[in-house]
Amino acid sequence: MEINKILNHVQKGRDFIFDILFPKYCLACGQEGSMLCNSCFYKLKINEKQICFFCNKGGVKGSLCAICRNKYHLDGILIAGNYKNLILSSLIKTLKYHFIQSNIDILERFIIYFFEYQKETKNIPKHIFSKSIVVPVPLHPQRLRWRGFNQSELLANKIAKYFKLPLNTNLIRKKRKAPQAKLPLNKRTNNIKQCFQWQGAKINKNIILVDDVITTGSTLNECAFVLKRAGAKKIWGFVLAKG
Ligand SMILES: [Zn+2]
Ligand SMILES: [Zn+2]
Repeated sequence: MEINKILNHVQKGRDFIFDILFPKYCLACGQEGSMLCNSCFYKLKINEKQICFFCNKGGVKGSLCAICRNKYHLDGILIAGNYKNLILSSLIKTLKYHFIQSNIDILERFIIYFFEYQKETKNIPKHIFSKSIVVPVPLHPQRLRWRGFNQSELLANKIAKYFKLPLNTNLIRKKRKAPQAKLPLNKRTNNIKQCFQWQGAKINKNIILVDDVITTGSTLNECAFVLKRAGAKKIWGFVLAKG
């Protein structure tokens, strides 16, 4: 009896791990076949129009408006989708805690879908992708060890591949602070100050700065501050979703 029970547990555990590694059912509609079926993929909905992230008013093609450009270190922010979209938020959450190849593949397809759409409609400036390097928002080494990968780096890698640009991971996180998501919005800017450091030579290039989610923009802004001080020219943020 005992041995049967144990075998049953082992079987269940194995099925669970197998389902995580090779998901069989669409997370949105339950259809058998893949993690996200083709018709549910288009329910992800891309952000068609890009406006100034900080004031939600001005800005053309994702650039910061003239007023916000004086207050922040970024030149523009491109936001592919919305965190309120349950399919997108569940893909992002899963990516944060599990390295699942089919999840990464879906997000790569979403990123390409976003950029292809923007290219066609000319909703984002073309010049930002020339002479740029792609830099992910770093994790603290301790968290990286615990998680095993940096989800922003996985995304940055896909963007670098798509635009045939170099990926650069010389921006590091030197201080481990309270996770931004657990803090009230008004405490986040101070929490993130002096967390980042550039460890490379003088930059002298444009930068695409990549993160998974944007909420207040203070993390991207603090990274941009460090990168501009290290010589970066124009800095454009790219995030999967606005939280
Ligand atoms: Zn589906
Ligand atoms: Zn603005």
